[in-house]
Amino acid sequence: MSTNLFGLELDALTAHFKALGEPPYRARQIYAWLYAKRARRFDAMANVPKALRARLAETGEVRWPEVADRQHSTDGTVKYLFRLDDGASIESVYIPEARRRTICISTQAGCPLKCAFCLTGIAGYKRNLKTWEILGQVATVMTEAAEIDPDGSPERAWNVVVMGMGEPLLNYDATVSALRVLMDPEAFAITPKRLTLSTVGILPALEKLMLEPVRPNLAISLHAPNPALRRELMPIEEKYRLEDVIAAAQRYPIPRGGRVTYEYVLLRDTNDRPQHARELVRLLRGTHSKVNLIPLNPAAEIPFGAPSRAAVEAFTGILSDADVAVSVRRPRGQDILAACGQLHLKKASAERAPVAAR
Ligand code: SF4
Repeated sequence: MSTNLFGLELDALTAHFKALGEPPYRARQIYAWLYAKRARRFDAMANVPKALRARLAETGEVRWPEVADRQHSTDGTVKYLFRLDDGASIESVYIPEARRRTICISTQAGCPLKCAFCLTGIAGYKRNLKTWEILGQVATVMTEAAEIDPDGSPERAWNVVVMGMGEPLLNYDATVSALRVLMDPEAFAITPKRLTLSTVGILPALEKLMLEPVRPNLAISLHAPNPALRRELMPIEEKYRLEDVIAAAQRYPIPRGGRVTYEYVLLRDTNDRPQHARELVRLLRGTHSKVNLIPLNPAAEIPFGAPSRAAVEAFTGILSDADVAVSVRRPRGQDILAACGQLHLKKASAERAPVAAR
């Protein structure tokens, strides 16, 4: 059976080469080709002897997940739908900005946590992704971005946010393995402060992540300022309580003295009122943190509306008047199916529909 070398960390690759009777430095060479140069064919690996390249091609492969669809927004955002071997699909997003480029990646096909405002949660859960499926999203987007947007690209640093489909800490091993490769200077070389993992706060896994030698930035999906409302929006509140999640997040060693981000999706007349903003101030007062407000990107399947501009401004004002650092996420890619899970849902329903109806 052919082994996919893409997705292996350096120690696993070294063991693989040892089994082939090759020295460790060969593994290091291939590791750089796989992740720093993102070569997809063994015959492109110029400093590897021809005979070894041929042998690698016979016994192994370099496989990324297959792109099933791309949607280009007029603002430059590109939304990717990847089709996996078992028919599951996942999404990633490329977001170019003046001074940086961001890739948002998925760690699960679907999500079991069923947050009420999230299309991915509504669509249900299929499975955890493997390391190669997580890394393949980044490799694909970086490679295509260089092709579609070659001008000035090298000056803009890459950011990776683990905020796509799924709860990354429910897929701990594959996610953390992918993070190690992303942050390794000999591989993707994303600096830890430019890599952010977003979680609802799976506490045992969060405690484990704190002990990893290299860690990404942390964003907590909060979305409500009190347990009762959070329980309505996010069933996980039953298991991992708001105050415990905040207490753990505040102990998290953020790279280079940064702050924990609390993400708060604003839902019209649900959690976007001044009283909610004041509760949020009380909850976060004294913490070293910042709040990222995300006005809902509405979709027909989501039973909530987008907040009014006035509500967003009032909410932001209450936070900043109380000296809580706050930013509002700018909507991106609104002319494409930009809400997380939307492209996947559209494809899934098209596939379920009778052929004549397409
Ligand atoms: S918001 Fe995140 S954790 Fe909640 S259902 Fe969606 S993907 Fe899962």
